[in-house]
Amino acid sequence: MARTVLVYVEVSDGKIEDHSLELIGKARELATKGGMDVGALVVGHGVRELARELIYRGADEVHVVDDPRLGTYRLLPYTKAVAHVVGATSPEVVLFSATVVGRELAPRVAARLRTGITADCTDVDIGSWTDPLSGRVYENILYQIRPTFGGEIMAAIVTPQHRPQMATVRPGLFPIPQRDETRSGRVVEWSVELDEDSLDSIEVLEVRREMRKVDLKSAKIIVSGGRGAGPKGFELVRELAKLLGGEVGASRAAVDAGWISYDHQVGLTGQTVKPDIYIAVGISGAVQHIVGMKDSKIVIAINKDPEAPIFRVADYGIVGDLFVVLPKLIEKLKQGRLPGGS
Ligand SMILES: Cc1cc2nc3c(=O)[nH]c(=O)nc-3n(C[C@H](O)[C@H](O)[C@H](O)COP(=O)(O)OP(=O)(O)OC[C@H]3O[C@@H](n4cnc5c(N)ncnc54)[C@H](O)[C@@H]3O)c2cc1C
Repeated sequence: MARTVLVYVEVSDGKIEDHSLELIGKARELATKGGMDVGALVVGHGVRELARELIYRGADEVHVVDDPRLGTYRLLPYTKAVAHVVGATSPEVVLFSATVVGRELAPRVAARLRTGITADCTDVDIGSWTDPLSGRVYENILYQIRPTFGGEIMAAIVTPQHRPQMATVRPGLFPIPQRDETRSGRVVEWSVELDEDSLDSIEVLEVRREMRKVDLKSAKIIVSGGRGAGPKGFELVRELAKLLGGEVGASRAAVDAGWISYDHQVGLTGQTVKPDIYIAVGISGAVQHIVGMKDSKIVIAINKDPEAPIFRVADYGIVGDLFVVLPKLIEKLKQGRLPGGS
């Protein structure tokens, strides 16, 4: 059996979630590096026809558990289905998106398979690893990379002795792979025994979806405020965002202070964003914030502390008091002129 990097694929309203496609793309990269295949596992009802799309996006084999009783996501039967397929196919690596579903499903599957898992990775890579104690070299080890110790360091966590190596990975970090209709692959259909116990005692009566009120992920311009802004500064942040036709983002400190709601939060426990322009106002640049915005095309930082870490990731830095800088910027924009422009 070929060694595989397997991706658990989430489906919503009959459509493959973008974050799962991102993971397929990343799995392709890892598999190429480690001489492995890419597998995709999709569970649900009416999901059989998605297999072809997953192959076009980079999967070499697609495992399908299609059962009317799995039409709506429920933790216990999904755990059983996923653990069954993963146990039977013995992949080297299994990746889940760090979504609400992935975050609860993945650790349960890992526990059933008696293996380790790293939650909420901000990157994954494959390579060899030498055990510093025994000197033994392990090949094709999954580096499960994430901030740790309160964000002080980026750690690469490894699972040398147990298989599969498992991780949940934050959505929004990797590009969605192009569709290639010339690709071919294998589809494997599974039926999983679902008894009353595994169907659990939860009966889903209705599914209601609440759309995100703030669309940070597709915003081209984001102006984010931090603790330095305070409630008054946030008025300026909002005004600047509006003038630029952008969205308002925030650091966790600003959200915790109650100046803005959580759906605006950027960072490790907020959203990962990649706008063309990210303007950080009164944000120090803690690693938990940086991981959420570091892939922005242009980063502009406004901070009165020249030593603030945000300047290390900024393309343009303005050292100054935001209550002086923002009003000037806003005034120039209202006049239809940017500072230094015509
Ligand atoms: C597990 C975990 C998850 C986390 N997740 C996130 C997350 O998702 N997102 C996130 O943002 N944080 C997150 N954090 C918190 C993170 O560690 C920082 O505490 C937070 O990002 C700090 O927010 P801040 O930069 O707004 O505030 P501060 O670090 O207090 O920085 C305020 C900045 O404003 C500047 N300033 C003050 N007044 C002015 C002024 N008048 N003009 C200009 N500049 C001024 C100061 O120089 C300072 O640099 C997380 C932490 C942990 C432990």
